Amino acid sequence: MPELPEVETIRRDLEPLVIGRAIAGAWVSGNAPRLVQLLTPDEFCRQLTGRRIKALSRRGKYLILNLDAGLMWVVHLRMTGRFQHDTGACPDTPHLRARFELDDGSLLCFIDLRKLGMMWLVDDWAVVNPGLGPEPLEDSFDLASFRAVLKRRSAPIKAALLDQTVLAGVGNIYADEALFAAGVRPTRAANSLSKPAVARLHQGVRDVLLVALGDRGSSFRDYVDASGRSGGHQLNVKVFRRTGEPCYACGSEIRRIKVAGRSTHYCPRCQR
Ligand SMILES: [Zn+2]
Repeated sequence: MPELPEVETIRRDLEPLVIGRAIAGAWVSGNAPRLVQLLTPDEFCRQLTGRRIKALSRRGKYLILNLDAGLMWVVHLRMTGRFQHDTGACPDTPHLRARFELDDGSLLCFIDLRKLGMMWLVDDWAVVNPGLGPEPLEDSFDLASFRAVLKRRSAPIKAALLDQTVLAGVGNIYADEALFAAGVRPTRAANSLSKPAVARLHQGVRDVLLVALGDRGSSFRDYVDASGRSGGHQLNVKVFRRTGEPCYACGSEIRRIKVAGRSTHYCPRCQR
């Protein structure tokens, strides 16, 4: 699933292509019945048409196209959803779920193999996800609040990092990488972390996200950006999907276990 660095990469790429453009037409495939939330696909297309894109923003793993009249077109790519901007035609694929014509003749094509992606057209963010936690790369993600949230949780720290009410935008890849950066074992109870460990983790989350952003995200399976290019961070991960390979820091074999139902990778010597 695209996480914060991947969605932010798409946002930055699309921004110069779509800002200021009006939506001249919209179409949602009949084979994507769960794509549009709250509205019927017809009503969604009707309300979207004629609106102008004023800004592109992001909240956690959600991409937000800010429209005129205070409307927000919110997109969650989930597992395999992606936007492709095209000047000719959308790709000829059965996985094309929606197509949006812009007033300069270009197209935004929404392609989604597994049909888990979701879109909303709302004027109030709270309708989409009222409980979303702070943005890890903004000041709202402060150490004191992070420590207080973890103190109230006895679940494994990995599960806490994946919980979008604790932190917005971190998924399986960057949770594992942040825990390695902090030297914290993923199975540790969140409320058992020492003050220095929480501080290292707070910094580790920010550091791994920023480095991954610099690499334009990670492409382990499906992720490509708005131009169809893969990210580069999968080459720079320290533990994620490196099971059995030597730790770059100590040479121990990276282990894989299940935590909170998710594959979890860690170094048994560096992470305590
Ligand atoms: Zn190690």
